[in-house]
Amino acid sequence: MQMIEPSLDDKVLLCADCGGEFVFTAGEQEFFRIKQFKNDPKRCPECKVKRATRGFKVHAETRVTCSTCGRVTTVPFKPTQGRPVQCRSCFELSRAAAVQAAEQPQEVSGSLMAS
Ligand SMILES: [Zn+2]
Ligand SMILES: [Zn+2]
Repeated sequence: MQMIEPSLDDKVLLCADCGGEFVFTAGEQEFFRIKQFKNDPKRCPECKVKRATRGFKVHAETRVTCSTCGRVTTVPFKPTQGRPVQCRSCFELSRAAAVQAAEQPQEVSGSLMAS
């Protein structure tokens, strides 16, 4: 039995929804680190569940046309006027592309002062 990551301690965070305290456990921190999530969780587990189930209950599907492939699809939210909406598969694709782009080492260019 060896502690591999002795630096990780349980953290107490404040929930953005109910303002209550919740514990961001060392195990969860390790999970976030592996997943390379940059932000700490914002909500307590109860509020996370509440949000998830609320989404299920409302189920207000809106018919939209995918801005990428042109297919008619439904989304579980009300799209903002003028905002391009993507069907699920196009959304997954673009998200995967974004993740890939984020994984590419980015060159840090000097700050541009010219205006
Ligand atoms: Zn909460
Ligand atoms: Zn599409």
